[in-house]
Amino acid sequence: MAVPTILDGQGLFSLEPRRFRGNINYERLRQKKPEETFPFDGGISDQGLWIYERAQLPRNMIENSMFEEEPDIVDLAKEPRLHPLEPDEVEYEPHSSRLLVRGLGEHDLEDDEEDYESSARLLGMSFMNRSSNHRNNMSGAYNREASGEPCSFSSARTVIIGAFVVVIILSIAMVVYFLPKCTFTKEGCHKKNTTLTLIYPLATNGQVFPWPKMRLPNAVVPMHYDLTLHPNLTTMKFTGSVQITLLAKEDTNNITLHSYGLKISKATIAPRASNQAKDVQVLEYLPHQQIAIKVNPALLNGKKYTLNLEFAANLSDGFSGFYKSSYQNKNKTRILAATQFEPTSARKAFPCFDEPAFKATFTIKIIRDAEHISLSNMQKDATTSLDNGLFQDTFAESLNMSTYLVAFIVAELKNVCQETESGILVSIYAVPDKMDQMHYALEASMKLLKFYEDFFNISYPLKKLDLVALPDFEAGAMENWGLITFREIALLYKEETASVLDKQIVTLVIAHELAHQWFGNLVTMEWWNDLWLNEGFATFMEYFSLEKIFPELEVADRFLRTRFEAMEKDSMNSSHPVSTPVETAEQIDEMFDSVSYEKGASILLMLKDYLSETVFQQGIVRYLNEHKYQNTKNEDLWNSIMKVKNVDFNVKEMLKTWTLQTGFPVVTIKLDKTGNKIHLSQERFLRMSISQDPSSSPNSSHLWHIPLTYMTSSCSNYGQPKCIKTWLLKNKTDIIDLKEPNVTWVKFNINMNGYYIVHYEREILMELLGLLQSNHLALSDQDRAGFINNAFVLASAGKISVQQALSITKYMKNESSNAPTAEALLQLRKIYWLVQKRGMLQLADRMEKYIFTIFGDLINHQVWSNSGSLSERQLRATLLSVACDYNYGTCVQNASELFNNWENSKNLSVLPSDLTMTIYTVGARDDKGWTFLHQMYNTLQTEAEKSKMLHAMAKSSNPRELIRLMQESLQHETIRAQEIPSILSTASKTLVGCLFAWDFVKENWDNIVKKFQPGSFTVETIIIQTTSQFSTKTRLFEVQTFFDSLKDKSSQLRAVQEALEVIRLNIQWMEKNLKSLEEWL
Ligand SMILES: [Zn+2]
Repeated sequence: MAVPTILDGQGLFSLEPRRFRGNINYERLRQKKPEETFPFDGGISDQGLWIYERAQLPRNMIENSMFEEEPDIVDLAKEPRLHPLEPDEVEYEPHSSRLLVRGLGEHDLEDDEEDYESSARLLGMSFMNRSSNHRNNMSGAYNREASGEPCSFSSARTVIIGAFVVVIILSIAMVVYFLPKCTFTKEGCHKKNTTLTLIYPLATNGQVFPWPKMRLPNAVVPMHYDLTLHPNLTTMKFTGSVQITLLAKEDTNNITLHSYGLKISKATIAPRASNQAKDVQVLEYLPHQQIAIKVNPALLNGKKYTLNLEFAANLSDGFSGFYKSSYQNKNKTRILAATQFEPTSARKAFPCFDEPAFKATFTIKIIRDAEHISLSNMQKDATTSLDNGLFQDTFAESLNMSTYLVAFIVAELKNVCQETESGILVSIYAVPDKMDQMHYALEASMKLLKFYEDFFNISYPLKKLDLVALPDFEAGAMENWGLITFREIALLYKEETASVLDKQIVTLVIAHELAHQWFGNLVTMEWWNDLWLNEGFATFMEYFSLEKIFPELEVADRFLRTRFEAMEKDSMNSSHPVSTPVETAEQIDEMFDSVSYEKGASILLMLKDYLSETVFQQGIVRYLNEHKYQNTKNEDLWNSIMKVKNVDFNVKEMLKTWTLQTGFPVVTIKLDKTGNKIHLSQERFLRMSISQDPSSSPNSSHLWHIPLTYMTSSCSNYGQPKCIKTWLLKNKTDIIDLKEPNVTWVKFNINMNGYYIVHYEREILMELLGLLQSNHLALSDQDRAGFINNAFVLASAGKISVQQALSITKYMKNESSNAPTAEALLQLRKIYWLVQKRGMLQLADRMEKYIFTIFGDLINHQVWSNSGSLSERQLRATLLSVACDYNYGTCVQNASELFNNWENSKNLSVLPSDLTMTIYTVGARDDKGWTFLHQMYNTLQTEAEKSKMLHAMAKSSNPRELIRLMQESLQHETIRAQEIPSILSTASKTLVGCLFAWDFVKENWDNIVKKFQPGSFTVETIIIQTTSQFSTKTRLFEVQTFFDSLKDKSSQLRAVQEALEVIRLNIQWMEKNLKSLEEWL
């Protein structure tokens, strides 16, 4: 999947990063009302998730009391089972152990009193009940022993109380005995606990649901699906049937699979070779989105069966599962139905084993009206006419694939197509009015498909590849095998009105999705914890392939900014390791974040750089060949690379430090000029120290194997390979013997290809500043941009002063390259935005003046045209956007004239297309211009252009216009709901919009999470962007209070933690740097 692009304040597109959630799900505690603390008090099916949690507790702590006292409780362990669970099938879960530790009063309870109370109540109840049992037993024992002896009432009571106290002490001792192994070991809770027993939840009908875990059992696996679906685009409902060929891998009475929101009307099972289908009962357990089929007699190990299910549901109103989308054609509303299954929504369209490791083959049949076409992963084999005037399309049997890659579309679409040399039919589809925007995508896809076939040395294995632009689409694109779906803006391209970045975006997204046809589709991660194997690779390959076959699109600067963005997120306490355990649907959703995508890609870039391109390519080709049509884990990749000849270091050990640890290192460099030595040290880089952030954890044990690159003043031509040296830093500290005299400076992390930042001691920093002043071209564009970025990032963490960081920008009067200029502008504007939003308008004015002291000359040299190379055009667009934002020079006047020309002619070709966003923004400043833009927005058919108009309208300072825009989008009227994050992000950067955007989020929260999944990147973007400008404790409290007050799961989202951390960081920045900034300006 590609995440969507939104326009940011720099006039650049930026990938919106995503976050994940931690392991402790306090929500499950919060959901309990006091009287519900006891998990088996009524409503048991609604509390199934809770029962599962409880089932992981050490049985000897809870079973005697709670479980045996309640007649409703069902413990299958005590009932005869065909195959009792082996003790080592039961894992001791970290959730539960943390939960109990919290109950005992762990320090982090303070910030969540409700959790504390629930935990304490739970524990209290556990001990109370347990004590009560023991008390009864012990009383009995006492009576027997004491018979015949006189005994006063008071002494008996004393003994009972004493026994009670002893039991409590014993209980606590047991808790202490059990918990530390799990809670305090580095390894987490992998240790098997033989005393545990699973407790089973109840299904919706009150019967026992035979499977208690979120992950499906392996007792029965799918081999093939015969799926028939009939979406009715008038009633907005669909019906379907699926015959799943199953293989029993052990004797069992149960088949557990996924299904969510489907009404199952009939279920039968038959041995594979027989047609004696037998009706079977279907149980449903909603919290796990699972159904279970009870079969009797048992399925036998090694035998195949056919499970037949008939079902129906509504087409979804949202953006996942089998959903409906609409568009206008000849003033009529048209409906289409499409799918988005990744990560866990195939189960919303048909019952299936919806985990990536359950690969199977699929034969799909779609029933449709005559006016529609249908598309699926494979080529169409046949169309048959049905009696009722409908048609049935049958698609060829698929290859072995995961459910999340299945796709089908029913719509009126038009296409263009072309066949590759190897006979693959490549087609681009879109709604009929957009036929003229499909040709570039076809051309790019043809080139990219050939590139990947050559580079991976594995043919694309299907006969066709469709790329389809869908009007309603939440992500940027989705790599369904053979049927890639896109948001329209990410596939369609209109040369006449496109800006310099539009072509780059479309090409990058196609490159990303085509790379997935190998990385993800052919070889798939075993579970979502290793999502980066899909997304990190596809993101890396986007840039890599474009550099090879579209050099004119100059993607290097964009990839560099991607790395900066990844590091910005990854330097926060709320970050997580690349490979992270996940289980629930929300946690899986949250994996689609900047760590999986951008950090994953950055690590691969560093690895490629260190291994050499040839060895890297050999390694991944070997990996793909060794694991095709299968599933993999993190280590499978490292093992494949290590088998390549000439790999003379332990790749696995190195990459473990990058994928299993959170964050990245800062490398501190000291130069010993007399001894000709470089002293190195590394530590985890965090923007906020642990003492200041209650949610942080100690990081002293973090250690990376860092493949350093550097050059020195004695061989300083970065274009000469011999000048670039490498050093593998594996320890906390190290020394490089330079073996060359009179070195005055060193520059590490050449082209910022390594995923680490560099902190130079003051003397080297001054030398490098001097070098930039005298001859800035001695360092590459990317090195200059990296130097600027690292300085501001280090200043934000207090590692260097903000004045030192600002002093670097002094050299920039001589700078004219895109990467360093854009980076410096962004860093300066971030400071401006913070100061401005705090209402320090005079200081903001001084900051503004400073920006133009540095960049004024460069801006004055810009012309209002599209001439030059891509990076020159990109730089121009950025500079003029900033100039007009601050009313600099004649920018507003020029833009207004152009806007008026367009308004009068209604012909977009009068505008320089790179600069339309700036021109629209200036035009939208008055109500008349804004209204005109709004009208044009509703008539245009070019999504790229509409997106720029939306950005311009969202920068309005008129509250009425802002509210109208937000409401229209959320209500999915004239503006599609998928645009709401972009509107809110843009508005949040402006002085007026900042407050309205946050207010809008609060007021409309319920609607937002109804439309989008809480763990989705859409919701995450909304949360983070609308709060990112706050820098006061009052705001921090307000945001925290708002999310704490929500009854849904949102307060537990990683995005909320990140948003709060960003506000804390902003507060920290203001406290530390405001005075220095005032002095500097
Ligand atoms: Zn992707």
